[in-house]
Amino acid sequence: MKIANISTEVKEIALKTPFITALRRVDTVEFVRVTVTCDDGSVAYGEAPSTRAVTGEDIYSILSGIAFIEEELIDLTPVDAIKTLHLAEMGSSAKAALDMALFSLIPDAKEKQNLTLETDITISLKDADEMIADATQAIANGMKILKVKFGLDIKHAIAVTNRLSELDAKLIIDANQAWTLDDTMEYIDATLDAKLELIEQPVKASELHELRCITNYSHVPILADESVFTLEDAKTIVEYACADMINIKLMKCGGVTKAIEILEFARKNSVKCMLGSMLEGPISINAALNLAMEYSDVIAYIDLDSPLLYKEPSNELEFHFNGCKITRKF
Ligand SMILES: [Mg+2]
Repeated sequence: MKIANISTEVKEIALKTPFITALRRVDTVEFVRVTVTCDDGSVAYGEAPSTRAVTGEDIYSILSGIAFIEEELIDLTPVDAIKTLHLAEMGSSAKAALDMALFSLIPDAKEKQNLTLETDITISLKDADEMIADATQAIANGMKILKVKFGLDIKHAIAVTNRLSELDAKLIIDANQAWTLDDTMEYIDATLDAKLELIEQPVKASELHELRCITNYSHVPILADESVFTLEDAKTIVEYACADMINIKLMKCGGVTKAIEILEFARKNSVKCMLGSMLEGPISINAALNLAMEYSDVIAYIDLDSPLLYKEPSNELEFHFNGCKITRKF
């Protein structure tokens, strides 16, 4: 089987409500869908959303990244195409879109796992009362784990956390790099009574020394997100004990093949991971959930709530979302 054609299109899915973090505000999920067709008629799909704030890529750079490499992949087998792809200098999201399509073309003898998984849901950064209302609504909708987004205002983060901790849900706190070392220490000291599952990427991606100090200091496990794109990043975090856990996302690492390398490393080193996503389309969520089922011993948390945020349900999902519960459709 050889690659015969690669094409792209831009797609958009409306959200129920705007998604707001320390880094951005969006009303739709916009993504590139890549279609890979083989000479035997097999067709596979991959996707990458615009995530300028995290990977630096937008729709146009993803399209141009794919256009840059596609000629080189024609007439290769999927296995050889994946090797060629990962040698190229291009954005990790553009790679992820191609990688997930090519990976799905490789025959897999393993039976697909069929577990019931639980995703968290994002509570966007808003004023305190709105965040409490959103959290209360999410719990009423069957969500058990809330991923709460905070920004620069540490007093707001402390006040909202202490109010949220009275609700019946587990809390993951994500500062998306907005805090300093001092802010984070202040936050930890002022939320001692709140039962927190994790604090995610409090400081800037490059501030590994600060991240390590926080991990040493904190009674709550620290999760590295923007600090870890590649397997090399993951090795650095683990070797220097900069964080307790790693958030793996297909768009950061360059696709399923690369995520598997990080997951195998994590498994060998007994490091638990979160499998996360950006705001993504259904095909990349399928790819992530297939991994989450395969590596359920390593993946302690799943942050794949995009389908819950779509205005209309997607019939391209291989999985049912019912409250926080995710099961395979067939
Ligand atoms: Mg994060």
